[in-house]
Formats: sequence, structure tokens, C-alpha cells
Amino acid sequence: MSNQDEILILAGAVRQCQKCPLYKYAKNPVPGDGNPNAEIMFVGEGPGEREDELGLPFVGAAGKFLDVMLQSIGLTRQDVYIANVVKHRPPGNRDPKPEEIEACWPYLMRQIEIIKPKLIVCLGRHSMARFLPNLGTISTIHGRCFKRRNQAYMTLYHPAAALYKDSMKKVLLADFQKIKTALKKI
Ligand code: URA
Repeated sequence: MSNQDEILILAGAVRQCQKCPLYKYAKNPVPGDGNPNAEIMFVGEGPGEREDELGLPFVGAAGKFLDVMLQSIGLTRQDVYIANVVKHRPPGNRDPKPEEIEACWPYLMRQIEIIKPKLIVCLGRHSMARFLPNLGTISTIHGRCFKRRNQAYMTLYHPAAALYKDSMKKVLLADFQKIKTALKKI
């Protein structure tokens, strides 16, 4: 079976998911999007309003900024895979609760198992804390690479956090440029 088929099956399971209450408030599940054979996988926090409406990750303001950053390193969304730690929108864009992240975790693990990305880019502290616990805060370890259990990770500020904060935006743009070099070194 192709990666595309496996990803479609997984999206079907996410659509049926009632493992935590988030599905009750969401309009659409947001399993993930992009190239199921990608070398780079971005993992954000959870869908926002626009993502919930369209069923696609990072399609609102933060997503537009992510597109611009991808372009800046010669990539498009079709070159990478984009997912989130929770697949349904937390109401009012609140932070996902630990038990919601836990309930959704097997879906993300399965996505990683199918795609086998060389590099997982954690977007923001929720994603970072789940993959790389106890390493420090995002403000101290952004822009760095880590290897855990044979998987390479990179930690970046969340595009939504950086969008309206010029100093953080500059840092994120500079960190983003390190992705390709990091990939070559893996
Ligand atoms: N923020 C996220 O973390 N994920 C999205 O899909 C959109 C905004």
C-alpha cells in the first residue's frame, strides 16, 4: 500500500475519533496535509478557526506566514508534510489539554511511522514539549537540532506567536534558514 493510501486510512480514523471531547466542538477534523513521502514534517499545536473550517492545517494567518518561510528556503507545502499534536480544534483556540494531546498522540505516531521523515520540525512549545520533554523552554532551545531514538528534530517558535512580534519573527525567519543545512547533516 502506498504512503498516500495509508495516510488516507489514518485520516478516516481521525474523522471517526471520539477519544477526547474535542471532536464535539469542532466543525472538521484536521488530520494533516502535504507530501506523504516528505523528508520534512512540521508539527504544530492544533487547528485554529480557519483550519477547523477547511479541515486543513496552517491555512490561516500563521499558515500564510509558514508558506512564506517555506518559499524562503525554496520549498512549498507540496514538498513537506504538515500536522498538529491535536487533530480537532480546541474551543476558542485554548491550549490543548495534556489528556487531549495524549489521546491524539497515536495518530501523530502513525503519521510519522508512515511518512518516516528525516526531520521533524516542532512548531512551538506544545509540539516541542511532547517530543523533547525537559529540554528547556522554546526561547532557550529554538533553532536547534536534537536526535532522539534515531529521529532528528528541530525546534522553532510557533509562526502564530512570532507573526505580530517583530523580534521573534526575525529569529524565526533566521532559524528557518537552518532547516536545509540540518537536513543535509542527517
Ligand atoms: N496553529 C497550529 O498550531 N496549527 C494549525 O494548523 C494552525 C495554527
